Order: sequence, then C-alpha cells, then structure tokens
Amino acid sequence: MKEISPLSPERREQLFPKLSDAQIERVAAAGSKRQVEKDTVLINQGEANVPFFVVISGRLDIVQPTDQGELNIVQHQHGEFTGEMNMLTGRRSLVSARMGEAGEVIEVSREAMQQLVQTDVNLSQVLMTAFIFRRLELVAQHAGDVVVIGSPHCSGTLRIKEFLTRNGHPYTYLDLDKDDGVQEMLDKFNVRISEIPVLICRGKTVLKNPSNQQVADCLGLNPKIDETQLRDVIVVGAGPAGLAAAVYAASEGLDVLMIETTAPGGQAGSSSKIENYLGFPTGISGQNLAGRAYAQAQKFGAKMIIARSAKKLSGTRPYKIEIDDGHFVAGKTVVIATGVQYRKLPLDNLSGFEGMGIYFGATNMEAQLCNEEEVIVVGGGNSAGQAAVFLADTAKHVHMLVRSNGLAESMSRYLIRRIEDSPKITLHTCTEISALEGAPHLERVVWRNKNTGASETHPIRHIFMMTGAAPNTQWLNGCVALDDKGFVRTGSDLTEEDLRASDWPLARHPFLLETSRPGVLAVGDVRSGNVKRVASAVGEGSISIHLAHKALAE
Ligand SMILES: Cc1cc2nc3c(=O)[nH]c(=O)nc-3n(C[C@H](O)[C@H](O)[C@H](O)COP(=O)(O)OP(=O)(O)OC[C@H]3O[C@@H](n4cnc5c(N)ncnc54)[C@H](O)[C@@H]3O)c2cc1C
Repeated sequence: MKEISPLSPERREQLFPKLSDAQIERVAAAGSKRQVEKDTVLINQGEANVPFFVVISGRLDIVQPTDQGELNIVQHQHGEFTGEMNMLTGRRSLVSARMGEAGEVIEVSREAMQQLVQTDVNLSQVLMTAFIFRRLELVAQHAGDVVVIGSPHCSGTLRIKEFLTRNGHPYTYLDLDKDDGVQEMLDKFNVRISEIPVLICRGKTVLKNPSNQQVADCLGLNPKIDETQLRDVIVVGAGPAGLAAAVYAASEGLDVLMIETTAPGGQAGSSSKIENYLGFPTGISGQNLAGRAYAQAQKFGAKMIIARSAKKLSGTRPYKIEIDDGHFVAGKTVVIATGVQYRKLPLDNLSGFEGMGIYFGATNMEAQLCNEEEVIVVGGGNSAGQAAVFLADTAKHVHMLVRSNGLAESMSRYLIRRIEDSPKITLHTCTEISALEGAPHLERVVWRNKNTGASETHPIRHIFMMTGAAPNTQWLNGCVALDDKGFVRTGSDLTEEDLRASDWPLARHPFLLETSRPGVLAVGDVRSGNVKRVASAVGEGSISIHLAHKALAE
C-alpha cells in the first residue's frame, strides 16, 4: 500500500488531533455507538452526505483508491475522528474508511454533526481546524479523486486546473509532454491525444475537454436544487461581497443559497497576495481568504451552486432567478454580488491566446507557467501593481505597460515604491499593445509608444491583463436601475425616474444598498459608487443582510 508523504509530528497533530474524553462524550450525545468488525467499510469513496465517526477502540484506516492500488492517508485510533471539508458540504467523499482492527465507533449523521459545529464552540474549533487543514493537505499532496491529463500548450487544461484549484478540489495532474505512462493511460481509457484535456473521475468516468459545469456535475460539487423551496436570501456571485452576505445570512438563521459562475473568491481569488485587508499584517492570498470564507459559510449551513450562472432576474417579491442550466430558484430577497470582470483589449486575436499566453489573474499557478521568462503586465491599477511585484519574484523580467504617463494617480504608494525599487520591473508609460503573434501559444508582442508612434516587437510569451473592469450586470437585463456605466444604482443614488421606471411599489425610499426593486440588494464592485476593495465588498455584503431582515419583515 502506498503512503502519503510523511507528516511532521506537529503537522500530524494539527491534522489529526485526539478528542478529550469530555469532547467524546458530547459527540456521543449527538450520535450512537456501534461495534464494528475488522474490514467493515464505513465510508466509500464517492458517497455523498457521509456520517461522521469517532474511534473509541480498534483502528479505522482512511484510504484512497487509486489506479496503482490504495493510498494510505491515515490510521485513526482512540479519540480520532473522520472527515474533512466535504463533511460540511455533503459533497462526495474523497476517501474510503475501513476498520483495520475490530472495535467501537461513534456514528453521527452529517446533519447532527453540522448542528454540533454550530452550537459547541470548543468542538467547532477542533473540528473546523482539522477539516480545513486536512483539505489543504489533500490538495498539497494531490490526493484527490480525479486525474487531469493535459498540456501547458492547451488553454482547456489551464481552465480545468484553475477551476479545480479555485474550488479547492485536490487532483493529480499528468502532463502529456513530460510524464511517463500518460499514453498508456490514454490507451486504457480509449482517448486520443487530440481529445485532451481529459479528466478521469474516480478511476471510472472519462470526460474529454469538459466544460466547468460537466466537471462540477461529475465530481458531485453541487447539491440537487429543490425548485419549490422559497429561500429567504439568494446571493448571486460568491466573491468577497457575496461570501460575506452568505456568512451573515446563514449565521443569523436565514435560509441562503449562493449561485456562482466559477468558484468562491471572485476577483480576490485571483490575487496572489492581499496586503491591505484588515487583520492580515503579512498579507493573505485571495485563494486562502476565499477558502476560509467558504468554510465559514458552509459551517453555518449556507448552500452554494457552483459552475452555474444566474441568467435572469424577474418578478416581484418573491423573486425568480433563472439559472443557465434551465432551473429556477425563488427568493424573498436577492443580493446581487456579481462584481466586475476585466476589460479585454480590442485586439482581434486576443481570445485565441486566452490561457495560451494571456492571463487575467496572477497566482502561483500562472507564475509557474512563466518561470524565468519575460512577462508583460498591462494596467496601472493596484491589481496590476500587485501582479508585477509578485511576478518579479519568479519571472526573468516584468514589463509594465500603461497608457497614461505615470502610475501616481491610479496605484497605492506602497506598490509604486516597490515597482520603482525593483531592478526586475520596467515601467513603459504611454504604451499600448498593438499586435499579438504566434500559434497556438503567444510567441511575440508588438507594443507602440503613443507619443512617438514607434513600435517594438519583443519575443515575450506571457501577458497579464489587468486593464480596468466592466460590471457583470448583463444578466439583470433592465430589471433594476443601472448607472450610465452599467453599475447597479442603490439607495439615495436612485432617482425618482429610476423608481418610476421600475414601478417601485412602496411608500418608503429604497434602503442604503437596496436597488429599484424592494428586497433586491446590490453589494461590492457591481454597485454604483462602491469603492473597489475587498474590505468594502465584505462590509457591504455584511450590511446587506441587516437590510434583508428589514425587507423580510415587511
Ligand atoms: C488581481 C487582483 C488583485 C486585487 N487586490 C486587491 C487588494 O490587494 N486589496 C483590495 O482591497 N482589493 C483588491 N482587489 C479588488 C477586490 O478583489 C475586489 O474589489 C473584490 O473582489 C470585489 O468583490 P465582489 O464580491 O464585489 O466582486 P468579485 O470579486 O468580482 O466577485 C463576483 C463574483 O460573481 C460571480 N458572477 C458574476 N456573474 C455571475 C452570474 N451571472 N451568476 C453567478 N455568479 C456570477 C463571479 O464569477 C465572481 O466570483 C484585487 C482585484 C484583483 C483582480
């Protein structure tokens, strides 16, 4: 049997703590004790909604079935317990649990365990910490239920890796060009090289160049939607604003459903390091922040549908939201938290290079693709500054291209100083990209100085686009009032004309974050007048639930 990479004693203690006798008693009160024979399987990989087990006596082996036999994850003894983040979400188990020695266990249903986490502060601390650390370790050790076969020269591969990474789902990646035995594996599953990227789910299901939705469905990332259930709050978008709204709504006892196009975290999830968010003096990666917030929302019982987009908002209270898979959900209140997306430069062949040299986020994943190569960062805002500083660590050289004649007006002072101090970053002002060349991967970039008209061609294969943003409000299709740039108007920004056009039915004026529809709130970057920062998104998301309570009471 294979083993995961050895853990230091401190790390083992973090991942697999022992419950005290008093804690075991409290868990026992929420479940039932049972005697189990050696070899009894308590959890099968792929099962959803699995119960929670604490070992009283005997030994419980946690293993992961793989193509080359079982991978031994851990052997639980007295006082140790099963579970990782899937315990809270009810998603399919990534591992199997089998008694290595006969003994006694406490079995607690997932619902009862979730109740325990919400009500017992002391147990919550131990269990939540272990669940989060265990998931991080599975991701770090690539110990998941899915194998991705692809190539760095294929944009679909980057998309799927990004989707799994941003959803915190562990996977094994096999590179067609580098890893031995890939051809053998493709032959075994009857796949042609032209059909990559390929995803092999639990050693059985093979998906050829799947959409994110197909990946989510195959891995069972989404709960079944009960279309008849009227929710208290539907949050559209799971960036910092939407996650904050979901955490506050669920923790205050509201029934909340989130809908998210890709993965929790939004733009913040694509940031390598956020250094100005209160409480994180050494900075925190967007991915880490999003993972923590998502775990918090799950702990309080918020539900999330991922890899699905809201397509239309309609009706009067209760509101109906159409999802792009044809389902509908209904909510007494709605929080619009769909944020913004980066504008794309008007270059004819740009879309063909997305994921093949053109990137819209700068995280470790993208940084690995351009290690020791020259890169370009386009844009003069804080996100561009952060990306340039981050990439300068691993890239050979970073060229920052801005259309204006300096950074002073658009970027925080601390970033400007780091850019000026770095010998590995060159700022090119009054400069814009005029052409992209190469096939299929980007190979050369032509840029032009706007003042002199001079063009230069550089053999650069990677461009990070951080070029201003447009609101994600197309799906609202005129249902709520927007400003002239397409951001959602709220509160006192709404004019009498806006309210008349939306048939505002109440005597009162809209609340602070309320749109031109009663009980429909807008928060974060998508809101007109919002300060585009993580802290303001989180603040607005939290406040919106106070207003949702008021709207629900009407
Ligand atoms: C690279 C980068 C670095 C940054 N660094 C910092 C920083 O250091 N400090 C700071 O304060 N701010 C930073 N920001 C800005 C900050 O990330 C944003 O202000 C913040 O993420 C806004 O949060 P939001 O929830 O309003 O929107 P977003 O983060 O944009 O999230 C919106 C979410 O809605 C989803 N969505 C969109 N349309 C739909 C739909 N129809 N249906 C379902 N879901 C949908 C999107 O997929 C997305 O996940 C950075 C931004 C970037 C891009």
